[in-house]
Amino acid sequence: MINIDLTGKVALVTGSTRGIGHAIALTLAECGARVAIVGRDAAKAEDVAAQIGGGALGFGCDVSVPAEVTALVAAVEERCGSLDILVNNAGITRDNLMLRIKDEDWDAVINANLRSAFVATRAASRGMMKRRWGRIINITSVVGLMGNKGQTNYAASKAGLIGLTKSVARELASRNILCNAVAPGFIETDMTAAMAPEARTAMSQEIPLERLGSPSDVARAVAFLSSDSASYITGQVLVVDGGLAM
Ligand code: NDP
Repeated sequence: MINIDLTGKVALVTGSTRGIGHAIALTLAECGARVAIVGRDAAKAEDVAAQIGGGALGFGCDVSVPAEVTALVAAVEERCGSLDILVNNAGITRDNLMLRIKDEDWDAVINANLRSAFVATRAASRGMMKRRWGRIINITSVVGLMGNKGQTNYAASKAGLIGLTKSVARELASRNILCNAVAPGFIETDMTAAMAPEARTAMSQEIPLERLGSPSDVARAVAFLSSDSASYITGQVLVVDGGLAM
């Protein structure tokens, strides 16, 4: 339990049916926020929301489809009365060496990871501007800072999120809307479970803190950036990686 008060705030976390997004939603709910859970399957998202409680609601949305993202933001605002904290977390990988990446794998990753965040931010920022309060947090990756063999499409999407974050931070600062990015390192989720054991071992040996991160390590950073304690922080990339990328 962390000592952050988000009572009265509504938070939308994309990709929150499992993994990092789920931990973020849980942590924001523990801090008092009402959370909107999002995954591709509405029934699964509703189940997760029911487990979280605190007025949480579940929504089905494929974030790689712009019209669905715009409709999602409208639905959250309508059903919850507001949208104060937007966490663009949903993300996918389609790893391959650059020469072997197919156009459709490039497009799928860019659309799910980057265009989705732009569309959600555009939709959510209108209400935040009217209310003169907002937090937008984009989940990027250390790979967006460092690059990675076999992840050209993913790294480009994550580096793009950093440019999006800084530009939105500059455009919306005067309306008291803060936009930051969190860059996780190597976190234990389904995404990393799919890696080859040798790759996992090699990667963990590079981490100064000598362990993989947990989803809640990332969630606590997001809760901090959502809170009033972070009210003078915008346009930043907070790296949560056990020292990997320093
Ligand atoms: P997981 O694969 O464990 O979970 C992904 C989540 O995103 C699920 O809730 C999934 O929901 C949802 N999702 C995937 N595609 C879509 C889509 N098109 N529309 C809506 N929801 C979608 O990922 P992680 O928790 O590991 O990663 C979360 C974020 O953190 C990602 O952006 C990832 O790039 C980033 N990250 C992860 C790192 C790690 O080491 N794990 C490191 C650095 C960054 P469902 O299946 O129900 O649709």
